[in-house]
Amino acid sequence: MKNYSTEKPIPNVAVIGGGLAGLSSATRLSQSGYQVTLYEKSNTLGGRAKTANISGFHFNYGPHALYRGGSAYQTLELLGVELSGAQPSLTKNYLSFENQLYVLPGNLWQLATSQFFSWQEKYHLVRWLANSQQIDANHLNHLSASEWVSQQFHHRRLKLWLTALIRLATYVNDLHTLSAEIACRQLQLSLRQGVLYLDEGWQKLVTELTKNFKHHKGEIKCKTAVSSIQPVDGLWQVESSSQKVARYNAILLALPYQECKKLLIPFKPDLPTGQSVHGVSWELGLSHLPKPKRLFALGLDNPYYFSVHSASAHLAPKSQHTVHVAKYLTGDEQGSAMEIKQELEEWLDTIQPGWKSALITERFLPKMKIISHLAAIPTAVFLHKLPGLAVAGDWCSDKYLLCDASIESANEAVSKLESYLATLTNYAYAS
Ligand SMILES: Cc1cc2nc3c(=O)[nH]c(=O)nc-3n(C[C@H](O)[C@H](O)[C@H](O)COP(=O)(O)OP(=O)(O)OC[C@H]3O[C@@H](n4cnc5c(N)ncnc54)[C@H](O)[C@@H]3O)c2cc1C
Repeated sequence: MKNYSTEKPIPNVAVIGGGLAGLSSATRLSQSGYQVTLYEKSNTLGGRAKTANISGFHFNYGPHALYRGGSAYQTLELLGVELSGAQPSLTKNYLSFENQLYVLPGNLWQLATSQFFSWQEKYHLVRWLANSQQIDANHLNHLSASEWVSQQFHHRRLKLWLTALIRLATYVNDLHTLSAEIACRQLQLSLRQGVLYLDEGWQKLVTELTKNFKHHKGEIKCKTAVSSIQPVDGLWQVESSSQKVARYNAILLALPYQECKKLLIPFKPDLPTGQSVHGVSWELGLSHLPKPKRLFALGLDNPYYFSVHSASAHLAPKSQHTVHVAKYLTGDEQGSAMEIKQELEEWLDTIQPGWKSALITERFLPKMKIISHLAAIPTAVFLHKLPGLAVAGDWCSDKYLLCDASIESANEAVSKLESYLATLTNYAYAS
């Protein structure tokens, strides 16, 4: 970390995008003593990590769980963000298969007494779990996740089980578009250290990072969409919806793939090919749970998710419940929003029959962009040809997914920019 003396001019940096990638990198850069301006096109910071408070129920934009062994967790702790919340229960979980619910084994006793798996399947499952952390993900980069699943098990129910766990850990339903390397690494991460549901939702992360950034004299420009960037006289010129042009020594684009690509088009960047991953999110505030011991369910023969997040974290008024239901979408998903909502309602009837009479409030989001760009072959993004420019986001990592990819790539972008800024001797100034 560098501390600039007052005699020396202080380099300035523009960070574009106020989601977790932008907020964490802007905070780190401002802590290092740079003058940082954070541009965000919407009214408030947070991007996909925002949480809405509706009648006292904290609804994240879709079910959000923070991986305890992941890069985001470690970075947020280093930045002094308080991570209060709890791990979801491992023993009140269910599998749904052919309209029946079965216990999802969370310990050996539940596995031994499982009505779903045969004795032979139980044996293979225990062996697989015992060895799962030893699998070397680096050796799987030539396989898709679906090919990998087929290699792991011969029994159909075990293949369905592993597929559902990969969907849960990655949000990806098209397993043939997902690399086995990323799937395996993400699964190992979730099985090893589990996840946290956060008190008050992910907004807490956004609020704390913002406070930290402001404390280090960071400047925030909300409602300011950046429309173009270009290098001028050794500086980066930023044009935005505020109609003002500003110049910076360095620039960090912390944007989803599609928005980043728009700003980079003039430079003809060599970006990885891939596709975005979407999901349906349905959040419910319930006065009570008709079946209080059913806190989590995963579809095996359908790509559905159910979880009572308020059972672990403070997310609802006292003795009430915040529930997330989701559907993992494929790229060619058919069906209207209304049809999908009806499917999910019918599925919820099997898990929490009578939920309608407990409903206080709900929010249905039919198409959420969960991963802005999933490359078939994992590639980290480095732009060598544009000095003073770095990119970060959920599509910029060859190791991680989701917010771990956003924050890990933000860390790399910050290191890259700090090395670049250290090479500058005479600072030019913004007009
Ligand atoms: C339904 C759902 C469930 C999820 N569950 C999990 C989970 O369980 N675990 C997990 O780790 N992750 C999860 N994620 C992913 C996680 O939310 C994201 O990876 C992370 O929040 C992305 O942060 P980001 O900063 O990279 O991008 P974003 O949050 O998308 O932030 C980008 C920001 O840039 C702004 N912007 C765009 N264009 C411009 C412009 N031209 N000028 C200025 N600003 C601009 C946008 O308004 C936005 O605020 C989930 C996401 C969804 C949608």
